[in-house]
Amino acid sequence: MQHTIAASARDTTGAVRILVALVVAAACGSTTTPVSELRTQAPAAADGESPPVVAPVPTVPAAAPVVAPRVTVAAIADAKAKLVAKYGAHDDISRGVDQVAALWRASDGDLAAFCVAQYAADAKTRDALFARMEAIDEQIRGHDLEIGRAARWNSEVDTGPMLAVEELLTTYDPSTHVIDDLFTSKVAFAVLLNFPLTTLADRIREGARYSRREWAEVRLASKFEARVPGELEQAASTAGANADRYIAGYNLWMHHVLGEGGARRFPSGKRLISHWNLRDELKANYADKDGLAKQRTIAKLMERIVTQTIPAAVIDNPTVDWDPVTNKVTAAPAAEIEADAPKDRLPASETREPDRRFELVLAHFHAARAIDPYSPVAPTYLDRAFEGAELPEARVRAMLVEILESPLGADVAQEIQTKLGRPLEPHDLWFPLAAPATAEAELDAVTRKKYPSADAFAKDIPRILRDLGFSPARATYLAEHIQVDPSRGAGHAMEAERRGDKAHLRTRIEAHGMDYKGYNIAVHELGHNIEQTFSLYDIDHTLLQGVPNIAFTEALAFLFQARDRELLGRPRPHGDADRLRVLDAFWGTREIAGSALVEIDVWHWLYDHPNATATQLRDATVETARKVWDQYYAPILGGKGTALLGIYSHTIASPLYLFNYVLGHLIAFQVEQHLAGKDKATFGKEFERVARLGRILPDLWMEQATGKPVGTASLLEATKRALDQRPAHP
Ligand SMILES: [Zn+2]
Repeated sequence: MQHTIAASARDTTGAVRILVALVVAAACGSTTTPVSELRTQAPAAADGESPPVVAPVPTVPAAAPVVAPRVTVAAIADAKAKLVAKYGAHDDISRGVDQVAALWRASDGDLAAFCVAQYAADAKTRDALFARMEAIDEQIRGHDLEIGRAARWNSEVDTGPMLAVEELLTTYDPSTHVIDDLFTSKVAFAVLLNFPLTTLADRIREGARYSRREWAEVRLASKFEARVPGELEQAASTAGANADRYIAGYNLWMHHVLGEGGARRFPSGKRLISHWNLRDELKANYADKDGLAKQRTIAKLMERIVTQTIPAAVIDNPTVDWDPVTNKVTAAPAAEIEADAPKDRLPASETREPDRRFELVLAHFHAARAIDPYSPVAPTYLDRAFEGAELPEARVRAMLVEILESPLGADVAQEIQTKLGRPLEPHDLWFPLAAPATAEAELDAVTRKKYPSADAFAKDIPRILRDLGFSPARATYLAEHIQVDPSRGAGHAMEAERRGDKAHLRTRIEAHGMDYKGYNIAVHELGHNIEQTFSLYDIDHTLLQGVPNIAFTEALAFLFQARDRELLGRPRPHGDADRLRVLDAFWGTREIAGSALVEIDVWHWLYDHPNATATQLRDATVETARKVWDQYYAPILGGKGTALLGIYSHTIASPLYLFNYVLGHLIAFQVEQHLAGKDKATFGKEFERVARLGRILPDLWMEQATGKPVGTASLLEATKRALDQRPAHP
């Protein structure tokens, strides 16, 4: 999952920082935990047992596949009676035994004997058990991370030529089977017997009253909230891999996509992957005098992909020409075919692509439904998606709608229309408002001289931190916990997960030193490392290490990145560039909000129609995309009835992730607004305070950090201000 998203993100070029806070996140690979840990259950080993499951767990919906209880009601009653007989009546006996029984398998042995041996009846024993589990959790995570880091060292760090084996080592992950092993050893059951499992609804209802220790207990137990049989995990991952492969091959050779009268408007050799490259091409075409005709062609092409009226022969095939308006396909003239054209492509034919796109979504759905009964606290894929973000669907949906219904949408559209000097069209959904980056040649010279090596950057970290507002003592302390390595890639931050280890900052150093772009990324990564260090070394419970989700760590890293020029002694960009950055963030958020809403509705439709065919799913998706367009976009962009909102490849490769991008924008604006304009010393203190809040609920984190829960107000207010500041004579 994470790899898919990271891969997608890498395709996103020309990202404006805050607009794609999350994308940057994934691209910089700053965290190995939040998304994957929150969203997916830990893998469980394949076992040969007959299917299974779950003792009577009331939250499993009636529609879920029926499965036989693995532990009999009598065995559960027997275990409870034996515990009461030995320890006396305790409120939590029933809960603990039920939690164990829900995931116990026949091969695990005697339930009652296990419970009697492992129950912690008094507070002192339970405190000791909690402390032991918290300590061992830190050791397991921390050492696994170090082993993985060592295995990938030569692939990630620029150590010179690589052996063939390095590629194999990158796929080795010692943490893959940890949860499964902890079930097999029954350590997981000792936790489930003694600490409470919670649903997202429980945490939202009661979380504000939890003590920090109770939050840590919640995080401990939730590691073991599901025990999915290995073959079902495997099926889900196969569905994901198939979808990834499909998307990876979904390219269009643009020289062969014809405009009116057979016009070839795109250069030979241009091969664009859907949807990222198509969207980026569309954005780039605003700078092109022939751009509008190209953009209309791309929009039509996208529509054909969503509705699957695209001819199968034109996908990744430069040997045929295609007019997406008439849908006519012809053999390309030999002189126009690229030298590197693949040999094994279909001959010219107008036969449409079968509903493959939707078959792949159905495969995700079927795999998820098979897992549902093994995940008692979040029994549907929708539940698990929102559980991952730790915001209930109703809240997320309300935020999406607030963005879409805001009258600011029409105001920003008006500004775009003025810039373009023509009525807006559906593809203006992707109009880039942010000013293009200024020439960096002068800054390149500064950073190359200042940072000829990774070591030179490492030596400057205490000064950077002092200039950001951390006290000299804090700056020294933080710098001692960060190791800087020369990176093969653009740069990333890797946390430590065990006290005693260091966070790693990977930064790219060219032969002539660090370019400004590399420096800008390094400052961003340093922000991650500082958050990671505070939330490991200075937190009260290591079980709460981190942030509520990936959007938060990106928001914090952005606070550093936004100050990168000041740290070189240059003024921070201001004026119209900053105003346009805000408008661009709003327009981009509004764009993804519609696609996210379509996807959520489609997944509800799937659960309501579990036997749907791919064709029925296609029709439902297209209908939903059109409905959302007509309601929220057609009034300002026209194009009634277009299905463009269904174009996101994420919906095929990583379903139900899109809404997280919207949350990312909102969270980044809230955190930024809270710290904007603070003096340096306050910035340093506040950064440390919020970084030590750890992995509590997003709303609680935001309330404790800024005084308000997660919401749309910061982004909308900033957008309003940006519109009000519009120069009289642009
Ligand atoms: Zn990042």
